[in-house]
Amino acid sequence: MTVKRCPECLKYFEQVGDWQRICKRCYARAKRNRDSDTEDSSNGYVIPKPLMKKVRQLVHPDRHGGSQLANSVMAELNKLMGR
Ligand SMILES: [Zn+2]
Repeated sequence: MTVKRCPECLKYFEQVGDWQRICKRCYARAKRNRDSDTEDSSNGYVIPKPLMKKVRQLVHPDRHGGSQLANSVMAELNKLMGR
């Protein structure tokens, strides 16, 4: 085991293998950032609540004879709103 200096935070850490280029803490932070990027399904778009309310009224399955498309869109919207 060798002691290396992390290029990210400039702190020393014990290198377990050649593959380890940055310290555990920086690796964990980088991984967290990567994960949160991929999990962000909103793509930065924010639908204002009043508009979302109208959209939900329009796509409500009752208005579309309980169509499968209306049901799936409604389910997606509910998921976006955390319901
Ligand atoms: Zn580091």
